[in-house]
Amino acid sequence: MDDGRPVVAYIASLELMKVSSLLPSNPQRSAVVHTLARSLGLYARDFSSKRALVLVPPQKAEPADLIIYHTREYLDFVLDPDNAEQNSHNAAAKTEYGLEEDCPMFPRVSDYVRLVGGAAITAAKKLQHPRCELAICWDGGRHHAKKERAEGFCYVADCVLALMAMRRMVQPGQRKPRIMYLDLDLHFSDGVSQAFHQTSSTSPHILTFSIHHTAPGFYPTSPLAHLPTPNSDPFTLSLPLQQGASNRTFFRAWRCVELIHTTFDPDLIVLQCGVDSLAGDPCAIFNWSLGPISEEGSLGWCVSRVVNHWRGKKLLLGGGGYDSPNAARAWAYLTSIALGNPLPLDTEIPSDDSHEYFPQYAPSFVLDVPAGTMQDRNTNEYLESVERAFEAAAIAVHTRTK
Ligand SMILES: [Zn+2]
Repeated sequence: MDDGRPVVAYIASLELMKVSSLLPSNPQRSAVVHTLARSLGLYARDFSSKRALVLVPPQKAEPADLIIYHTREYLDFVLDPDNAEQNSHNAAAKTEYGLEEDCPMFPRVSDYVRLVGGAAITAAKKLQHPRCELAICWDGGRHHAKKERAEGFCYVADCVLALMAMRRMVQPGQRKPRIMYLDLDLHFSDGVSQAFHQTSSTSPHILTFSIHHTAPGFYPTSPLAHLPTPNSDPFTLSLPLQQGASNRTFFRAWRCVELIHTTFDPDLIVLQCGVDSLAGDPCAIFNWSLGPISEEGSLGWCVSRVVNHWRGKKLLLGGGGYDSPNAARAWAYLTSIALGNPLPLDTEIPSDDSHEYFPQYAPSFVLDVPAGTMQDRNTNEYLESVERAFEAAAIAVHTRTK
């Protein structure tokens, strides 16, 4: 922190990695992710001359920190270690709090909730430091969690907690911050979008924008997961894409993102970088490539736009991503972009003894997550209708914020 470079706060610790690696939907993913980041030298002081990565351990949130969003009943249950016991007789309560099926109780779930929730609060605190331009928490981005229950592999609403903490970041003499939450995960950000839906009628300070896939029966079904209409809340935006969405489609969608960003003019950004939207993910819905940043519409290009061309401090969060080596590749690449020194996509995965997950990167053993051959079903007509809907939404945002 002493050489004058701007700082990227990378929220991580051995304990966070260990408990995140127990997540039933993503076993070991956190360990794979952080091990690759370290092996590639991203933690080294001299990785980038532009920004310095500082490792920041997350605080362990107390119930009082989590209750600003979650209900006391949910917290009492999920934070009680006795309820994670195999022989725990709480079937009715587990059903009530969503702690079954895709969100089963697991060993150390209480530590997991406290650390991932605490990571959001730690990140918001770090961003108050004048030199800290960005914070990154790849173990966060749990955008389906509700205030009163776990849903969709998400046990704690860290995105909401981060937004609630960041909206209190008022600089002396400046307006109350406007925050844009942008979600690139394959799935709609229902937990975050619901949390702030129609809360902006008199004081529009948080705008949520989710690019995602929707289809009949595709998780999560939500009345908010559709294109904006004249009657919908222009601060709760959704941009659904059809199967096979490629860089070309994301480039078109990005025009809508830029239009809303310019109109809303946020002071702070929260970017959820779920990578189940990339080609090669087991979800197999989109055909989006990781990079390069020179290719318009790629994930790396989009994140580079946010990091390098949008004003204000940014928090980058993880999310979905069910091929652990690909999630590690993607988040290492995005970290290198955040640090101002994008790694080449043909960078070889380190094979030294300290990188125990090397065999998982077969057969390519390089950083790239390339597009596949899936057909892009987003037609020009569909994308034109998207653009028209967002042009109208931008006018509504302008009318309510001027
Ligand atoms: Zn997802």
